[in-house]
Amino acid sequence: MCFRPPSAGKPIKCPSCGALNPNIAKNCVKCKADLSAAKEENKEEKKDE
Ligand SMILES: [Zn+2]
Repeated sequence: MCFRPPSAGKPIKCPSCGALNPNIAKNCVKCKADLSAAKEENKEEKKDE
């Protein structure tokens, strides 16, 4: 219930088909759509650069 893999964050919803993908996925597992755009919108943590 309260364990989460270190490399997994919030699931990314595919902008194309709506499927939920692992945070580490670069492309939708279902339709192979590029998830980088969707990932930008989900960005919550701002890092100082
Ligand atoms: Zn998709």
